[in-house]
Amino acid sequence: MSLRRPLPLVAGNWKMNTTVDEGVALARRLRTELDTCRVEVEVLPPFTHLVQIAEVLRGSRLRLGAQNCFSADKGAYTGEVSPAMLVGLCQDVLLGHSERRHILGESDELIARKLRAARRHRLRVILAVGETEDERLDGATMTVVDRHLRSALEGLGNVGEGELVIAYEPVWAIGTGRTASSEQAEEVCVHVATRLDELIGDVATTVPILYGGSVTADNAAELFALPHIDGALVGGASLEVDAFTLIARACEAARASGAGA
Ligand code: PEP
Repeated sequence: MSLRRPLPLVAGNWKMNTTVDEGVALARRLRTELDTCRVEVEVLPPFTHLVQIAEVLRGSRLRLGAQNCFSADKGAYTGEVSPAMLVGLCQDVLLGHSERRHILGESDELIARKLRAARRHRLRVILAVGETEDERLDGATMTVVDRHLRSALEGLGNVGEGELVIAYEPVWAIGTGRTASSEQAEEVCVHVATRLDELIGDVATTVPILYGGSVTADNAAELFALPHIDGALVGGASLEVDAFTLIARACEAARASGAGA
């Protein structure tokens, strides 16, 4: 495996939180705090906020992403949002988040179809992978992560630089306050890097591998010091300007120091 040096990313998944007005105000404050940040910073608000937040972020360095998209471009799919509809509004789309896998029943196969649809429309995909607590206790963490990666990426064809991000998110760490230990996070992220190499070839060294799961301003620096963690996907703390700003700045400091992210 050759040397990895992707541009780090700190992305905030707002989930189903904030009204449009609250979201616009949050995006304005984050722009003020983080426009000068020298790592990529991104917000992923609900669909209903995208038009107005795209305006707020116009001309800034902050990226905008959607939390999901459907696998078809248009048609009789009541309530769904297609990747074609996101083009021009945001640059990225999050797919495979554990809440969509486990609460909304999304299969590996559906996630693979969504990923191909998003790529047809040149959206960068943030693919989330990770094991449940039972799977970890059964010793199946790497098997599950492999399955999530293979089912989404096998046979994808040429992946270019800047087209893919992987977020390793142990399900038991999401929203629970139980962050993975440095050893656990690094071990799986090394595994992801190795598997990416096999699945997509040389471009794998440019794909950021994020950790997600109860990242806070207090634990971010330790995680970003790890060699195979290139940033974070942040849930709860992304709704607080001060916490999210500290996390993004910790990532920037880790990159500047040459350590990890
Ligand atoms: C997430 O939803 O992707 C996440 C990591 O949430 P939290 O940071 O709240 O654990």
